[in-house]
Amino acid sequence: MALKVDLKQFLDDQGNEIALTDQAKTVFYFITNIVLCVTKHIEQPTVEVDLKCSTRAKNLDCEGSIKASCLAPNMINWHCDCCEASGSISNWQYSKWDKQLRTLH
Ligand SMILES: [Zn+2]
Repeated sequence: MALKVDLKQFLDDQGNEIALTDQAKTVFYFITNIVLCVTKHIEQPTVEVDLKCSTRAKNLDCEGSIKASCLAPNMINWHCDCCEASGSISNWQYSKWDKQLRTLH
């Protein structure tokens, strides 16, 4: 089952992390690291994220690594190279974890 995450659900009006349950924190850490990694290497079609599949929740033991890509504007897709796990992240643009280089106005 694909894990669809809207980053806005984790943030307040100022773009800061809201109070999260332990489970949500684990997911949040996983998701924000994917966003950081993809946006730092936005020119690459697929980015290998320095995260293990098991990072996304407790009680997982998959040692697969996560590959992610930005296929559509405002949508990052990721998948595990070892198991069926996959997901998408929306509303990450302009968040603190969006490291794309932009022209300053
Ligand atoms: Zn996996």
